[in-house]
Amino acid sequence: MTTEQGAQGPHQVLYRKWRPQTLEQVVGQEHITQTLLNALERDRVGHAYLFTGPRGTGKTSTARILAKAINCEPTGGRGEPCNDCEPCQQITDASFLDLVEIDGASNRGIDEIRDLREKVRFMPARGRKKVYIIDEVHMLTAAAFNALLKTLEEPPDHVVFLLATTEPHAVPLTIASRCQRFDFQRIPEERAASLLGEIAHAEGLSMEPEALNTVVKASGGSLRDAENLLEQLALTAGADATANDARRLFGIAGSGRARELIASLLGEKDLAAALRGLSSLHAAGVDMRQIHRELVNELRALMLVRAGAADVLDVSDDEKGSARELAEKIELPVIRHALGQIAALSVPSGSPPLPLEMAFAGISLSGESVERGAEQGARATQEERHVSETRAAETPPARQLRQQQSEQQQRPPQQRQEPARPSQPRTESEYPRTGSRPSPMVAQRQGGAEPFELPPGELTVETLRNHWRQLVDGLRGVGSGGNLDAWLRSGSQPLAIENDDTIVIGFAHNLHRDKIADPKYRHLVERRFAQLLGKHYTIRCEKVGQEDRGGHLVRAAQQMGGQVVSGRDQSETETE
Ligand SMILES: [Zn+2]
Repeated sequence: MTTEQGAQGPHQVLYRKWRPQTLEQVVGQEHITQTLLNALERDRVGHAYLFTGPRGTGKTSTARILAKAINCEPTGGRGEPCNDCEPCQQITDASFLDLVEIDGASNRGIDEIRDLREKVRFMPARGRKKVYIIDEVHMLTAAAFNALLKTLEEPPDHVVFLLATTEPHAVPLTIASRCQRFDFQRIPEERAASLLGEIAHAEGLSMEPEALNTVVKASGGSLRDAENLLEQLALTAGADATANDARRLFGIAGSGRARELIASLLGEKDLAAALRGLSSLHAAGVDMRQIHRELVNELRALMLVRAGAADVLDVSDDEKGSARELAEKIELPVIRHALGQIAALSVPSGSPPLPLEMAFAGISLSGESVERGAEQGARATQEERHVSETRAAETPPARQLRQQQSEQQQRPPQQRQEPARPSQPRTESEYPRTGSRPSPMVAQRQGGAEPFELPPGELTVETLRNHWRQLVDGLRGVGSGGNLDAWLRSGSQPLAIENDDTIVIGFAHNLHRDKIADPKYRHLVERRFAQLLGKHYTIRCEKVGQEDRGGHLVRAAQQMGGQVVSGRDQSETETE
């Protein structure tokens, strides 16, 4: 069994039954099968082929048919296999001794390659030629590639190598250059739909064409997936499944439901809605592996569109237009970040939604800092330079103080003592940006079941900023009007944490500041934050004007004895 098959799950009855048995039956790859047929007829089959292309497009099937054709007895290896002689039948049953299938992704595969050089010298046991099919060849280790290369450099006459990969760029050039390369194409939708129609008819399924089209769209150009999805549809909704059944099971279009999830998560920044969407897809029996693939494709599409490379996309103009609509609402670094997080996941068939849920939450939590990073990349370096300049000018007592404090941070929280502190405010500049910190702190909402995790160690203003949106969301429903969060939602920003017990919040508008500074509301905010952060902090509200936004940092450094040594004015050192 190859990895591609292994990941498909237990059914696959249709896929196995309808697997092509001759080159002519391979759908949508005529440019390849015709060339191979010509080579067979002229007895010009090469010693090494590299089949590349998306999954489910017929690479492994074609390799097996070619192995058959080479070893077929009645034809003498000069055409399509007869599928009737002993070598042909044994290859169909996977019992032919001279066909070795190696899975490049498995450890066993690597071992098999290692002693390949030994075994390859032996003549075929029964067939005309020994055929090695190496699937997912890009997964081989460097050592295995090396062993393979040695063999490819001086290939014995009686051996044919058929290498298959979904990622040709990951195959070393030294290997690829010694193979004849064939690029398998995604199956065009009309071809896949008409083939599914034939299969459905032959299997006694009376599904309407629109249902089959929906299956094809959901399969993303993989014929194997299309056949498996057709089977799933027949098993779930019966032999006369309608287009509506198919839509319910697979979504309206392949990218439709993935786009909806991404619109919630990144467009509306509504994590709860995205999680609900995921959950209802799972409840409807949609395979999370399929959703995972759609999410990756959709994020890639958005990234390409956002980067101005929509022409690279292999979709209709309508599709591009609707992708553009969403892409314009999201910053490129945010799309890039989300794509990185989702693509790195492993979501096997039949997986629970958990891996995707965790990725969604992670993307949502880090979304704001990615966005801010994009806006302020240039300014951040300026700020850092300035901070290091002010630090250099610190008086010795101030430096001592910082050392003391960072020693305290090394201790586990429960052992931390609270010495009489000097009254200087503590700002972000005092906290180490990296380094080991004590045990993780997990904040749990008391009322609801939505915990969120804070980085380990003492709360820093950076952490606070990264989680600010979640904290503000946590205020929803608090206060007599239930809208306390609204006063903090726009134009508020944590400025500093002072003495490890006071959070300083900066407001762009006096009205908002006065509201939250009002003790009766301030206490509500403090109480809610204590639940969310796992520790009580006093809230202090400040109005920040354009002229001194971020000047806070410099002001704090000055209070600690620092001097502004550069000639720049404060507006260049804004942190926000
Ligand atoms: Zn035969």
